[in-house]
Amino acid sequence: MDRRPRPQKPAFPEPFARLVDAFRRLPGIGSKTATRLAFHLLLSTEEERSSLTGALETLASQLVACKDCRNIVERDAGDPEAPLRCAICLDPSRDRTILIVVEDIQTLYSLEKSGEFRGLYHVLEGRLSPLEGVNPEKLRIKELLDRLNDPVVREVILATSPTTDGEATALYLSRLIKPMGIRVSRIAFGIPVGLEIEYVDEVTLIRAVEGRHPF
Ligand SMILES: [Zn+2]
Repeated sequence: MDRRPRPQKPAFPEPFARLVDAFRRLPGIGSKTATRLAFHLLLSTEEERSSLTGALETLASQLVACKDCRNIVERDAGDPEAPLRCAICLDPSRDRTILIVVEDIQTLYSLEKSGEFRGLYHVLEGRLSPLEGVNPEKLRIKELLDRLNDPVVREVILATSPTTDGEATALYLSRLIKPMGIRVSRIAFGIPVGLEIEYVDEVTLIRAVEGRHPF
């Protein structure tokens, strides 16, 4: 048996380790990338660092959720508590008869990037997941149903992930929405089943919306 002491992992000084750890908690970032980013910042100029911290602070202080769809909106400087609508919800050229339900703002932006979807959005802020303790109350379902009381809405497209949780969410929503006399459709995935929707590129996504079927 090899009794030589195993090489110890280098221990970073605490303030540096804390930054590495903060990066590591971000999606898609492993230890190696986290360390590389932290070293990059360590060697960056004061100006580069303050532009980053400034942007992070702005996230919380200057952004609010759109009162209708939960997209992000820049807060009104004159009246920081004012409920606001996002540019999409305010755009008079959008088709108000179709509403697409997405899990997150990222998917909303992917669809917007394609420029081909002209309806409105509703961001659920997640998907049902009994294992992770996400029940209907934790999602923006009540807000969605309130919006659907507006008789102008004729169709709801369910664009949740083609995963078990995403499918269960779509099924749950369709059971609530259909009795309201609104057409419910599900996006047609040319996407591998099991893939979370945030990883789908915008072209595949808009094709999936165009090929939607009654649900
Ligand atoms: Zn909005």
